[in-house]
Amino acid sequence: MDLNALYQEIILDHYKNPLHAGLREPYGAEVRHVNPTCGDEVTLRVQLAESADGPVVHDVSYDAVGCSISQASASVMADLLIGKPVAEAMSVHEDFLALMQGKGQVVPDEERLEDGVAFAGVAKFPARVKCALLAWMAWKDATAQVTTPLTEEEVR
Ligand code: ZN
Repeated sequence: MDLNALYQEIILDHYKNPLHAGLREPYGAEVRHVNPTCGDEVTLRVQLAESADGPVVHDVSYDAVGCSISQASASVMADLLIGKPVAEAMSVHEDFLALMQGKGQVVPDEERLEDGVAFAGVAKFPARVKCALLAWMAWKDATAQVTTPLTEEEVR
């Protein structure tokens, strides 16, 4: 199987069986982002939790409507970032952003981006880059708005 076919299958799989989909409580911040050029919409909630090593992404829940790329991207993003320290999640976010803005010239790091590498092919199509980035931008926006992470006691 060639790489593009494999990437398309990964995206289709996340689209058909989205991970962590649905809106959950409790949440620290909720945002709604839209991509008018394609008609994609995402409502996304982020909950952070305090830990000895700083804040951790406790949960990312979302309701995504739109094309397969935008919905699959939300699934990949949530699965990748939940459970990570916020600092590490921000760094993964930067890697994905660099991949998507790389016009197909950036070689993705599979260790860090996991199923996110499947969007490498999308980076060659400027019109679809916004679809792939919608949920990621919503996550960053929501994360910046969380003012009170759960305490370690609340998480237990
Ligand atoms: Zn789209």
